[in-house]
Amino acid sequence: MEIVHDPSAVQHLCEAIRKGGRTIGLVPTMGFLHEGHLSLMRRARAENDVLAVSIFVNPTQFGQGEDFDSYPRDLAGDLVRLEGVGADVVFAPRAESIYPKRYRTFVEVAEITEWLCGASRPGHFRGVATVVAKLFNLMKPHRAYFGQKDYQQTVVVRRLVADLNFDLTIVVLPTVREPDGLAMSSRNARLTPDQRRVAPVLYRSLRRSEEQIKGGERNATIILEGMREMIEADPLAQIDYLALCDPDTLKAVDRIEGPTLAAVAVRFGHTRLIDNILIAAP
Ligand code: AMP
Repeated sequence: MEIVHDPSAVQHLCEAIRKGGRTIGLVPTMGFLHEGHLSLMRRARAENDVLAVSIFVNPTQFGQGEDFDSYPRDLAGDLVRLEGVGADVVFAPRAESIYPKRYRTFVEVAEITEWLCGASRPGHFRGVATVVAKLFNLMKPHRAYFGQKDYQQTVVVRRLVADLNFDLTIVVLPTVREPDGLAMSSRNARLTPDQRRVAPVLYRSLRRSEEQIKGGERNATIILEGMREMIEADPLAQIDYLALCDPDTLKAVDRIEGPTLAAVAVRFGHTRLIDNILIAAP
């Protein structure tokens, strides 16, 4: 396993791998790795000659007052997990090498970044799109792997790849959950025991919306009201947003008529968690 910190060094390494005729599968992460990340890596390991992983807590995707400083980090522990999963290339740059002093270029994906997490976190997807474009240029993957847990991010990345003609395939894999349904997330480590006990309500509320739709309910307002009631039953949970939307355009729907994305974002103190499920057409 090669651990590389320098952007030009990783670029040379990945170029050489490509020229040698081997395929590269990239899993971009912010580290503090858990089973969700590892599931992407195992798939990338199986589908490519070389498994490349980036670990970078990207400052440009965090807003003022967000948890950039307190975001959990454990590079030593991550490297052990990466050895275990058979990573070949680990790129762990310092922020100054990705965004040097005179850095001025940002990638903006319009419209689909304006609502859901884009509304609660202005500038977040500009940071995501910028760093993902840079990682693609540096690491030259044939395939890049993302989790459905960050559904809007997968829509943004697919748009970016199509619009900027990146020559690679995006693979999206299902959300890995704890036994009680809570979607795995590095941020779960920041929950207090009481918050952790309540946190599975995100997934329960999503499942409830699915059951209502399966039971014949078509009115989005009524379904969202049911989810709200369930989440607000515990004062530790503060709703950021609840949405039923079109899985392609991410636009909110009034009536459930086709496949639907149910998505939630909830704050527990300073920790904000997101989750979503795709509900088949009724
Ligand atoms: P992060 O380190 O949180 O930026 O996540 C890196 C990648 O792992 C992203 O593509 C996430 O969507 C994905 N990911 C995070 N949590 C999960 C999960 N519970 N299941 C599947 N993929 C995940």
